Amino acid sequence: RGSLYRLVRLAAIMTTIANNLQQVNDRISQACQAAGRARETVSLLAVSKTFGAAAVAEAAAAGQRAFGENYIQEGVDKILALREMVPYALQWHCIGPIQSNKTRLVAEHFDWVHTVDRLKIAQRLSDQRPAHLPPLNVCIQVNVDGGDNKAGVPPEEALELALAVAKLPRLQLRGVMSIPEPYPEFAAQKTVHEAAHALFERIRVALAAHADAHSAPWDTLSMGMTADLDAAIQAGSTMVRVGTGVFGARTYPAA
Ligand SMILES: *Cc1c(COP(=O)(O)O)cnc(C)c1O
Repeated sequence: RGSLYRLVRLAAIMTTIANNLQQVNDRISQACQAAGRARETVSLLAVSKTFGAAAVAEAAAAGQRAFGENYIQEGVDKILALREMVPYALQWHCIGPIQSNKTRLVAEHFDWVHTVDRLKIAQRLSDQRPAHLPPLNVCIQVNVDGGDNKAGVPPEEALELALAVAKLPRLQLRGVMSIPEPYPEFAAQKTVHEAAHALFERIRVALAAHADAHSAPWDTLSMGMTADLDAAIQAGSTMVRVGTGVFGARTYPAA
């Protein structure tokens, strides 16, 4: 009886994830429509932190291909497990803070890093990116609303960091990522996301003036989570990072 119960419960979770994905994608479509944007201009990153490989496999079976992980070792374990579990390539995004001693693991296993906020980390990622893999896609994480204890480069230093990162040979600088404070009102959410968008566009102009140093497409504004993805899309987000909306509430923190 115990194993039957586990099977039934697993089936219920699976249905839930497929349904959740459908709902989140509908929400993205509606937000695009409200903003007068084409649906293809916004992609969904499913944030699978704290959820097991089986949950990721189910989301993949429902058509989701891009996944975000915050904790490096947990993410690498899942990346390796999923290679055995699903017959198609998944795209893995590191969206958590990176200490120097973890850059090699990230460079060897992930496709994207959203959380570059120091040149030293970017340099290590570039140096350690294996030759047989394509360049690592990266975004500069910006602390748009200036919280003291938050990760991310201050907005006034973002351009200088972007220009330096753009020169690193094994990285492809793609854009900006932001995690603002969780404001409850739509208007406040939109205002802070608009500040990130304005910075994103300022850096675009500066990079275009250094076209020799930067050849990657500057096309990614990573912002918006379950609670504020609609406002983020209104403000120009091109990639929303959704955990709870796809996988449900996180019941335990990863180590
Ligand atoms: C956890 C996390 C998310 C997803 O948050 P939800 O509110 O569960 O959608 C997005 N981005 C980052 C950086 C996260 O750590």
